Amino acid sequence: MPDRPKLAVIGLGTMGAPMAQHLQASGYQTLGVDPDPGAADRFAGAVAPEVTDLSDADVIVTMLPEGRHVQEAYETTILPAAPPGAMLIECSTIDVETARSLNALATAKGFAQVDAPVSGGPEAAGNGGLSLMVGGTGQDVARARPVLQVLGSRITHFGAPGSGQAAKACHNMICGITAMAVLEGFALAEAMGLDPAQFHRLCAGAAAQSWTLENRCPVPGVVPDAPASNGYAPGFAARLMAKDLRLAQAASASSGQPTPFGAEAARVFTEFANATGGALDFSSLYSELRKTGGT
Ligand code: NAD
Repeated sequence: MPDRPKLAVIGLGTMGAPMAQHLQASGYQTLGVDPDPGAADRFAGAVAPEVTDLSDADVIVTMLPEGRHVQEAYETTILPAAPPGAMLIECSTIDVETARSLNALATAKGFAQVDAPVSGGPEAAGNGGLSLMVGGTGQDVARARPVLQVLGSRITHFGAPGSGQAAKACHNMICGITAMAVLEGFALAEAMGLDPAQFHRLCAGAAAQSWTLENRCPVPGVVPDAPASNGYAPGFAARLMAKDLRLAQAASASSGQPTPFGAEAARVFTEFANATGGALDFSSLYSELRKTGGT
């Protein structure tokens, strides 16, 4: 029987840990890398605090918070330590320019590389239910596809390197604006004395339905698995929501396409994340909204 393919996941946070877990359960020998001592509790496999040796890894997946983290990991550890010709799959949500420059750096050294940011929370990360937005050459995407297919069944190749991140910026701007609408709608409903559970049932079966409404209802106790019912544990941290909305604003500025609703969502979530640290799920903004009014 051939050896199981070897893979490293750099970043075992809310998303990286369940992705690593699922890849391991799907037959990849998976090494997790994360300096956080808590990472070993999130991934039941081999965990190293830093990359010392990647010489065994056929595929290296990065799932880090921001572009600067990915850039640093590529420059200081991955590019110097990966074996010749390794496949690099960058799944974090970062800006298009950094995604393109990482691809140029990696391919200049003979690696195959794609940007493949994801949609779907930790639940989808753990059961192969992610949607992936992919940028890269046809050849590199074809090589990455077996791993991408383990992570999710909806894989869209948008085109050249960086185009996965372009799609992700637009996608997450829609999510951020929708989140504002859902939070504000529930705040108004509660302020007017409506039963939030009843209101949620109505919206879920009517035109106000959305992924955020269904999975991230901001009122505690309405959706049992939602972050709101679990102390607003992420989920999708408010600081990451703010970061993604700023990425969309950068894309808006560089493309010349105004996005005023996206700008307002970026402002609100950035202020909230700066004031609170933004570690809780984005739906925790609800408590702030509710403080300001209602009967
Ligand atoms: P997170 O903050 O929970 O996890 C990031 C992890 O990276 C942490 O465990 C941290 O210790 C680790 N890390 C930081 N620097 C490192 C380094 N140099 N080497 C190894 N590990 C390092 O973030 P997350 O929620 O898992 O999100 C990761 C990325 O995925 C972000 O870009 C985010 O925008 C995106 N994303 C998140 C969600 C979500 O629902 N949480 C959904 C889709 C996309």
